[in-house]
Amino acid sequence: MREPSRGPWRRPEEPGTSKQYTMQIESDGRGVYALAFGAHPDDVELSCGATLLNIIGEGRQVAVCDLTRGEMGTLGTPESRRREAEAAARAMGYLERVQLDLGDSKLFYTEENLHAVVSVIRRFRPAALFCNPPDERHPDHVKASKLVSDACYYAGLRQLKTTFEGKEQEAHRPRHLFHYIQYRDLPPDMIVDVSRTFEASRRGVLAFASQFWQEGDPDAPATMIKRKEFLSGLEARARALGEQIGALYGEGFLLSAVPAVHSFTACFPDH
Ligand SMILES: [Zn+2]
Repeated sequence: MREPSRGPWRRPEEPGTSKQYTMQIESDGRGVYALAFGAHPDDVELSCGATLLNIIGEGRQVAVCDLTRGEMGTLGTPESRRREAEAAARAMGYLERVQLDLGDSKLFYTEENLHAVVSVIRRFRPAALFCNPPDERHPDHVKASKLVSDACYYAGLRQLKTTFEGKEQEAHRPRHLFHYIQYRDLPPDMIVDVSRTFEASRRGVLAFASQFWQEGDPDAPATMIKRKEFLSGLEARARALGEQIGALYGEGFLLSAVPAVHSFTACFPDH
């Protein structure tokens, strides 16, 4: 019997469903209110974790999607970082965490990558979307920002076809898109009071243990975030943002559209 020929051609993977790893944490059938994307595992927890805990505390569901496995990171392996991402998801109480494999440091703006993001948005059908900021030190963060922002719009186009688990997906455009703030100290359009959740959100951050300084580590840091003072620097920024709104801790965001005020007194309360 002849071996099947092994030519250079291979069947293209189905757009939107390829390279997808999913960790289902818990599911009670309620829909997802917020879906947070990050270029790398830990982007979300470092930048908007306490806000996500606020949302969960208000009885709504949150899902997270890492666009890459972080395989180009100086510290940890894709496998150890996936275990850390799972531990973070459990600590935070997300409904689900998805890891795509769009290529750490190769996060290019391609049709396949755009469709993969559209597919995740359509799968969870969130009202609010969070993603990286458009101006950042790491080029992947900038690329992720553009990819997710555009996917947020395109996900609402019925003529753009994607499938998940063999089924055609329905179009869905999230109502709100927020960019969290990372390394660059961008002036926020909005600051969320996270005084009640900031401490708890550190459990999600510290789950990524390989990335941060620990007792016994050598003095010379391998990366910017491995510096001993990095986590206290993050706390200082959250304190400074909190100060701007008369709160203990704050997380800052950039808006992608003028916000609508439906209830003046709910948005601008007495106290
Ligand atoms: Zn990152």
